[in-house]
This record gives sequence, structure tokens and C-alpha cells, in this order.
Amino acid sequence: MAQLYDRVALIGLGLIAGSMFHAIKRAGLAGEVVGYARSAETRDVAREIGLCDRVVDSAAEAVEGADLVMLCVPVGAMGAVAAEVAPALKQGALVSDVGSTKVAVIEAVAPHLPEGVHFIPAHPLAGTEQSGPRSGFAELFDNLWCLFTPLEGTDPDVLARYKSLWNGMGANVDEMDAPHHDLVLAVTSHTPHLIAYTMVGVADDLQRVTDSEVVKYSAAGFRDFTRIAASDPTMWRDVFLSNKEATLEILGRFTEELFALQRAIRTGDGDHLHDYFTRTRAVRRGIIDAGQDTDMPNFGRNAK
Ligand code: NAP
Repeated sequence: MAQLYDRVALIGLGLIAGSMFHAIKRAGLAGEVVGYARSAETRDVAREIGLCDRVVDSAAEAVEGADLVMLCVPVGAMGAVAAEVAPALKQGALVSDVGSTKVAVIEAVAPHLPEGVHFIPAHPLAGTEQSGPRSGFAELFDNLWCLFTPLEGTDPDVLARYKSLWNGMGANVDEMDAPHHDLVLAVTSHTPHLIAYTMVGVADDLQRVTDSEVVKYSAAGFRDFTRIAASDPTMWRDVFLSNKEATLEILGRFTEELFALQRAIRTGDGDHLHDYFTRTRAVRRGIIDAGQDTDMPNFGRNAK
């Protein structure tokens, strides 16, 4: 694939930025990728493992002369990072972010950006429970979605080029408005994470059990929850603080359904339970048919 940007700056060097670097290199999408992270420790690791063509010691230096600046830090840090890089941005540059929520990021970032700089918020729906500079890999975005929430008046040529970047990194792209994005993600990602955190927290509260049976006999259901609940605490704190309304809305609906299932169990209403589980099984089928997950038993993992 053809080179799309002469110089890309990655601010924050964790799972998403690391994966972007490898995916950009895989397809030759940029001339040079410059990286910066706030801690000297992360910058040292990045230099040691060859993450980025060049790792620099300030955010301003990283964005100097860059055509594309990617903000790859937790949602709660986006505003401060945007303010830090703003004076050093090149005229005509595109600034984007990979934050998991969009309304709050737009509110935090947009006011800092100078005239003549483009801003297209984005969110790759791809991740693992790992974080840090060693966790990224080139295939992370393959066949998954990257959602854009462009602001009114976005330059179509700038948008088209940016879409090509994500396509080149393996992703499919789609557009929606930011509030809708936040609601969709509250259903598909944010609330499920909260439920996993809760379930693992409940098991941990049963100290006696945790010491022995819960760990020893952790069946697939609980194990899958623990994988999700191992996700980065800072990132997820920020997700809930910045997508408050949508998460509370979905959590309210979740609680109502949970009470209905609780009642069905209490009253022995097997039909209710069976109908409900039949409906949810069809959702899984739909995800597999859409090519968004494997149909191998236990996600293709060794059943052990
Ligand atoms: P990560 O692996 O934890 O890396 C985060 C990076 O941000 C690190 O380089 C860290 O610097 C830096 N950082 C943390 N706090 C900061 C602060 N207050 N100011 C400046 N820099 C700070 O995170 P990630 O998983 O790549 O996530 C990055 C962004 O992608 C987040 O906005 C997240 O919502 C979004 N996202 C994540 C996933 C996922 O599943 N992980 C999926 C889609 C989108 P140090 O290393 O120096 O501490």
C-alpha cells in the first residue's frame, strides 16, 4: 500500500499506539513514525524494542513537522496532552485520538487546537487486557472496526486519507455521531466490563473460596470475566467517568433484566429463562456470522 503520511507522531506508547506502529510499518503507510510517552521508563523500553523510528523526550518535539498526530493516552489525559502539543502543531496537520469515549474527548481536545489544524476523533474497536509498550502487535486491528465521529465541516479529503490509514492497518471504518457512539459502546463494551469487574470483585470478597475453589476450579465463565477484569485500571476508570450518562442508562436497563431473571429463578419460570437464553444465543450467532469472532468452541482455546 502507498505511503499516506510523511511523518506520524504517536503520543502515548501503549497497546494501541504500539499496534498502530507495527500495523503502519507492515503496510508502509508512513515515512517516519515518531513516538513519545510521559515516563522515561516507557521511552527507554520503546527505544530498546524498536517501537517507533524515533522516540523523543517531549510531546512538542514529537509533533514537530508531523502530518498526523495520534493521541493514544487515557481518555482523562486527552485534554492536557492536546494543550501540551497544540503550540507545536504544523499547519494543515491532522490530530486524531483513539479514546474509548468520544463526547468527552471532543470537549477536552477541540478547544486547544489552533486554526488550520484538522481534528477527526476515532475509536478502534480492538484491544486486549494487556497494556504498555510491549503489548502492541501488527494484527490487532485486522478485520475489526474503527469508528470515526467527525465534527461538522470536516474536510472530506482529510477524512478520506485518514480512512485509508485505518483500512491499511487492517480495519474496517464507519462513521457515527459522538453521542450515538458513546451509547453503542456503553452496551457493547463499557457495561460488560463493569459487570466483569463486579463478578470478579464478588468472588474476591468470598476470601475463603478465592483462596481455594474459585481459582482452582475456575470454569470458562468466570475465567472469561477475569480476563476482562484484568484490563488497565486507569483506562477503565476514565471510560466510566467520561461516559457517565450512557453507562448509567444501560446499567439501569441491565438491572431491570437481572431482576426479571432473578424472579424467574425464584418462581421456577423455566420458559422465561429458556426463551431468554435462546435469544441471547442468537446474538452470539450474529456476531460470528458478521465475522467478528471465531465459531470454534471456547474461542478456539485449548478447553483445558
Ligand atoms: P496503555 O497501554 O495503558 O498506554 C497508555 C499510554 O498513555 C502510556 O504510554 C502512558 O504513558 C500514557 N499515559 C497514561 N496516563 C497519562 C497521562 N495522565 N498523561 C500522559 N500520558 C499518559 O493504554 P492503551 O490500551 O493503549 O489505551 C490508550 C487509549 O486507547 C485510551 O484512551 C483507551 O481508552 C483507548 N483504547 C483502548 C483499548 C484497549 O482495549 N486497550 C481499545 C480501544 C481504545 P506511560 O507508559 O509513560 O505511563
